[in-house]
Amino acid sequence: MAILMNGEWNLNDIANPTQEHSMLREMVRDFTIKEVEPQALEYDKKEIFNVDLFKKLGDYGLLGISVPEEYGGAGMDSTAVAIVNEELSYSDPGFCLAYLAHAQLMVNNLAQNGSDEQKSRILPKVCSGDWIGCMAMSEPGYGTDVLGMQTSAIQQDNGSWKINGNKMWITNGAIDDSGTPADIVWLYARTGTDSKGRAELTTFLVERGMEGYSVGQKIYDKAGMRASNTAELVFDNCIVPNENVVGNPGESMIHMMRNLEIERIALAAMSLGIARRSLSAMNKYASEREAFGNQIRDFGQIQRHIGESYAEYRAMRAYIYDTAANTNLSMAGNRLDSDGVKLFATTAAKNIADRAIQVMGGYGYVGEYVVERLWRDSKLLEIGGGTLEGHHKNITRDLAKNSSNIDG
Ligand SMILES: Cc1cc2nc3c(=O)[nH]c(=O)nc-3n(C[C@H](O)[C@H](O)[C@H](O)COP(=O)(O)OP(=O)(O)OC[C@H]3O[C@@H](n4cnc5c(N)ncnc54)[C@H](O)[C@@H]3O)c2cc1C
Repeated sequence: MAILMNGEWNLNDIANPTQEHSMLREMVRDFTIKEVEPQALEYDKKEIFNVDLFKKLGDYGLLGISVPEEYGGAGMDSTAVAIVNEELSYSDPGFCLAYLAHAQLMVNNLAQNGSDEQKSRILPKVCSGDWIGCMAMSEPGYGTDVLGMQTSAIQQDNGSWKINGNKMWITNGAIDDSGTPADIVWLYARTGTDSKGRAELTTFLVERGMEGYSVGQKIYDKAGMRASNTAELVFDNCIVPNENVVGNPGESMIHMMRNLEIERIALAAMSLGIARRSLSAMNKYASEREAFGNQIRDFGQIQRHIGESYAEYRAMRAYIYDTAANTNLSMAGNRLDSDGVKLFATTAAKNIADRAIQVMGGYGYVGEYVVERLWRDSKLLEIGGGTLEGHHKNITRDLAKNSSNIDG
């Protein structure tokens, strides 16, 4: 990793900028090989979320990786978030997606935007894994067009809020096949409409057991990410106390925008894990397999698959960790590169997993050899957390306002 042969620290290793980061990577890599890898194929096949394994991430301090230590977290930065997601995804992107939905989409959001009272009350439970959380933004009729959302909340005379609407595609929305809901939902709902007809958003912390909150359906038969549960949530006259509103009503766009940056970096880092595993598998196989009396790595077409994949992998790694190093978790401000890095890394991972299957021929197409699962999982990363087309739109918009990243 970052230690050179002479024992000195390699300050140029952007993926392990400090000894703490390097130790984190080593710890997660060890955990992944010993505990995540052996269960990955089975949980993908059965389409179930491994709750017991998830809770172990709490014992290692990973569920609150970016949460200050006073609330039970590890107090680390965006680079650490990328490291954990890269390492878990090397073996099991589906399991990692459940981790990301909890630790980045819900827990980090609360750590950055919640009140002291909300943080003291809830963060210790989600950092330890006692509670499993999710983030509900998308709806059956509104995804990219998020400000069109219809889920609405109205404040009652007694100060509590009544919420109505459905959320769709929510990772960790159901914990099991019996429809047990997540312990806590970071929910965006419309509490007003601006002069352009767009939603004014408010964030609610909806806890399991609150009246009117339930799972509509667990979504089965996904192409990939099958080790994470995806569900529709129903809020039917759901009553939430005023103390569970985060920030001021109508001002939650900033929560959403700020958190989308770390979400996109984490999803790009998941792509990096997929790319590294796929590249490693094709590289090894190309030496082991012979055809026409030669190792297949002697064939020019196989060399193209490996050569292009290596160069793309290295470019992803540099761009992801450069973006992470320049992303402050407590401030919005790096949308351009969090969009850019996800745009580039997700498609690169899908292409590298695809080439790994091609290099491995029939074996690559079979679950035991892992890469077909990574290929299925990689496709989601081009959709969730913002589609490729959404990234095109944002990047082009941001560059119209400020092109210093091109010329600077
Ligand atoms: C497995 C899985 C897990 C998910 N987890 C979560 C979660 O935990 N929480 C959550 O809130 N959501 C989650 N999502 C939802 C995800 O974020 C959305 O699917 C995504 O934002 C796209 O929304 P959509 O599916 O409604 O597609 P749409 O937005 O309807 O897009 C359909 C197509 O139209 C294109 N399009 C839309 N607008 C434009 C435009 N202006 N210009 C060009 N093209 C455009 C899109 O790029 C896409 O190609 C998850 C989705 C999946 C599949």
